[in-house]
Amino acid sequence: MNLSDIKHLLTERATTFLGRGTHDLFINGQWVAPQSGRRIATLNPATEATISEVASAGPADVDQAVLAAHSALREGPWGRMRPVERERLMLRLADLMEANAQALAEVESIDNGKSAAMARAVDMALAVDFVRYMAGWATKIEGSTHEHSVPFALQAQMVAYTRREPVGVVAAVVPWNFPLMVAIWKLGPALAAGCTVVLKPAEQTPLTALMLAELTQEAGFPPGVFNVVTGDGPGTGAPLVSHPLVNKVSFTGSTEVGKLIGHACVDHMTRFTLELGGKSPVIVLDDCDPATAAAGAANAIFFNHGQVCCAGSRLYVQKKMFDRVVADVADHARQLTLGHGLDPAAQMGPLVSQEQMDRVCGYIDIGRSQGAEVLAGGGRAGERGYFVQPTVLASVRPEHRVVREEIFGPVLVAMPYDDLDEVAAWANDSPFGLGASIWSNNLSQVHRLIPKLQAGSVWVNCHSMLDPGMPFGGYKQSGIGRDMGRAALDAYLETKSVFINV
Ligand code: ADP
Repeated sequence: MNLSDIKHLLTERATTFLGRGTHDLFINGQWVAPQSGRRIATLNPATEATISEVASAGPADVDQAVLAAHSALREGPWGRMRPVERERLMLRLADLMEANAQALAEVESIDNGKSAAMARAVDMALAVDFVRYMAGWATKIEGSTHEHSVPFALQAQMVAYTRREPVGVVAAVVPWNFPLMVAIWKLGPALAAGCTVVLKPAEQTPLTALMLAELTQEAGFPPGVFNVVTGDGPGTGAPLVSHPLVNKVSFTGSTEVGKLIGHACVDHMTRFTLELGGKSPVIVLDDCDPATAAAGAANAIFFNHGQVCCAGSRLYVQKKMFDRVVADVADHARQLTLGHGLDPAAQMGPLVSQEQMDRVCGYIDIGRSQGAEVLAGGGRAGERGYFVQPTVLASVRPEHRVVREEIFGPVLVAMPYDDLDEVAAWANDSPFGLGASIWSNNLSQVHRLIPKLQAGSVWVNCHSMLDPGMPFGGYKQSGIGRDMGRAALDAYLETKSVFINV
């Protein structure tokens, strides 16, 4: 599928952007060719064809971007701007993102494989709302005043207060599953707090970050406030997170890479927040309508092709309803229509890459070899594009790898349980703790279960609900810190205590 074949499906802005073919780095408000001289291709996962080539930034490019962010903060107009001026710029950016939401969604769809309609309704809608939400915080950052009680200076007249200050240069390293939306989760609080940012998008999906750079230019952000370095993890991400002038790293991605980044940050005492993997349980209680629960469970795992850190990938159903609910979920899986993201009839697209498809299919094989029963799906779909069939596995045991490890694809494991204590113990029997959903209308059972669950978000009769004002993040190995909500803003601010002896 060439650009000329799909041009009629695209907005002019998306066509123009994709038509460039080659993209440079965005550093200090300029488009610059990589000093590394290297480029990487980004593919359309539905067709396996190359869409564009982006720069592969090396350490010298990363250094240039961090220096630009550093001097924009220390010397440029940004550091002197009033909160209301930052708010205005952010609101302008949100308006531009909204005006170009369709083009952003189209490019996201072609780069990632997800449905353009879904990208617009979910990714772009949340991204725009989140910029507006965080813009509002810019003028509400406040310290506190104190009546001092310094024990060895009780007689002194002292004014004591705290100031909140931007943490400094932020390195944002983001994954490929919600490329623009997660980038915005980092950019929003960073800008509201008055920080500057170097963003490294995932190598599989770098394009909407570059479109966002164009929009920040149009919105009028001073040069160096927002920079984008494209490239892979070891070549670009690693020198970025270990750069001594980076003051904070905000990362979303795998637990494995999150741990590497945490270690690298400690060397310079760089602040870090990590939003990592998950293996979120979906718990169906015996009072609820089986059809509703099955539809909810199917959506919890198959939304975004299962490439969601809080995907409901473990289904626990009370024993007496197990067969009915799981059969219904398998029916949902079989009925999903697969296709490329610009096809309005497609309900599920390809996985992001060959590597991800192989990994997910590998897990399905591991499940089979450990005795899982395949109730729906079971492998690759078609021969072109990285499509995997929506898959439901039963007859699995708590120690099976498909139950314990994050698969990050459209693969559900289903298990029966007897009572609330048993299901709470199983739900928590995981290194992860990102999300959990409960399906029931029995208020007392629901309220008994909520406190028992070790998860950063609990949803009742819904799954994967995200709101700009609600913190999102993980217990246990699902991460440290929170994205979204006021909690996110705090991670981009330092607190300074001031004592003035008057
Ligand atoms: P996923 O498993 O979802 O692909 P990863 O954790 O591998 O997620 O990648 C998430 C982001 O982290 C990507 O932008 C990737 O390039 C980056 N990354 C990978 N390895 C490193 C590393 N060693 N240092 C910094 N960033 C990295």
